[in-house]
Amino acid sequence: MKLYNTLTRQKEEFVPIEEGKVKMYVCGPTVYDYIHIGNARPYVVFDTVRRYMEYKGYEVTYVQNFTDVDDKIINRANKEGTTMTEISTKYINEAFHDADGLNVKRASVHPRVTEEMDLIIEMVKELEDKGHAYAVDGTVYFDTKSFPEYGKLSRKNLDDLIAGASDRVTLDEAKKSSTDFVLWKPKKEGEPSWASPWGDGRPGWHIECSVMAKHHLGDSIDIHAGGEDLVFPHHENEVAQSEACNGVQFAKYWLHNGFITVDNEKMSKSVGNFFTVRDIASHFPYEVIRFFILNGHYRSPINFSDELMKACQNGLERIKNAKKELRFYIENTADSAMTEEEVAQSVELGKYKEQFETAMDDDFNTADAISAIYELVRFTNTGVKAGVSKAYAVAMEDMLIHLCDVLGIAQAEEVAVDEDAAKIEELIAKRAEAKKAKDFAAADAIRDELSAMGITIKDTRQGVQWFRG
Ligand code: AMP
Ligand code: ZN
Repeated sequence: MKLYNTLTRQKEEFVPIEEGKVKMYVCGPTVYDYIHIGNARPYVVFDTVRRYMEYKGYEVTYVQNFTDVDDKIINRANKEGTTMTEISTKYINEAFHDADGLNVKRASVHPRVTEEMDLIIEMVKELEDKGHAYAVDGTVYFDTKSFPEYGKLSRKNLDDLIAGASDRVTLDEAKKSSTDFVLWKPKKEGEPSWASPWGDGRPGWHIECSVMAKHHLGDSIDIHAGGEDLVFPHHENEVAQSEACNGVQFAKYWLHNGFITVDNEKMSKSVGNFFTVRDIASHFPYEVIRFFILNGHYRSPINFSDELMKACQNGLERIKNAKKELRFYIENTADSAMTEEEVAQSVELGKYKEQFETAMDDDFNTADAISAIYELVRFTNTGVKAGVSKAYAVAMEDMLIHLCDVLGIAQAEEVAVDEDAAKIEELIAKRAEAKKAKDFAAADAIRDELSAMGITIKDTRQGVQWFRG
């Protein structure tokens, strides 16, 4: 399995630190609002990486944090006349609601900054003791010049960064170098704070992830992931903090997802061009949002549009209909073993799996993996029409379910949950009665009524089948 490592800027064979195990940390959202579809991308993409790792037999420990102390959360709390904790608790719950809808598996641990404060203070202290940090009037800075490898992840040169910064007005006079960043900042009136050796205050953003990764996964981890906007400065600073403190390589592989854009501009809260997952979920099922995200390669930008969402909805329906058709066929076909010809053909079935795995082994190319599923769908549709044996239909269904599950798409529950199901079944029964009584006008009228509900029906040898679309 190869993955593209931002650290080395190339695709590398994945070799875990400890055989059979994967330790993975993914930067989570700052919880002051509903997550937008841009935030949903790392959720879905790295959940899929995790699922594929598990599929390959690895035992994955997956950590995704919540940033629950931040200026944005405090501002929102002040605006609404409530507390930071109330805001963060509300939006953590909302984030879980959306993540569940997107079929994102819960992480092994979802640490929150407020629950890790002692360890954060401990790490800042250790950095200070080791000469990598200095305190000025209650603010503690990381001394970037004390870490010669600073810039290795984002491929930035420290001297260039310093020269670049000197062109701008530096507001923070206390810093030894313009590239130094805050590990701990002093309390401001009316803001939440914690006691520390440098006085009451709260942590800077970057230190939290170094601490939570160390706490829940150890000093060295296999994979660290997040959106590409995090490479610099967030991840660069994490590398500096963790490696300066722990003296070992922090993360072996760095994975970064590309942006979701609107009109080719990054979707972001600050620009105001964002759509929350919740908004979109009121127009399209959650599963379509997941499918939309997996339709592109995770490192390529995806431009969000209604047309693309609709195309994805149709694509997903195609897969779901094939699954449904197979299930219907299996349930309504008498037991029969595979013919000799089918036994030979079942090798063909394995080819789709191979094609799928080849795509996923190549830096998690979910777009090509979905193409393999589409091809399998064509194959099963043809098989069902040609009247294959029940055993062969079961083998086809197994393969389709197997591959869809790796991507977390076209899940069985979604198919089963159709609020109109009872009504649809009733109409289909009435239509059958009408046809039996040779009242074809009534039968056609029922078909039209179903069609108006977005339901297509199909008369097959096994009985009447219905599906959406
Ligand atoms: P934030 O809450 O802004 O810290 O973002 C949480 C995660 O979402 C980070 O991994 C970001 O890199 C990622 N992210 C934010 N906006 C986008 C976007 N438009 N497209 C893709 N990923 C994004
Ligand atoms: Zn982080």
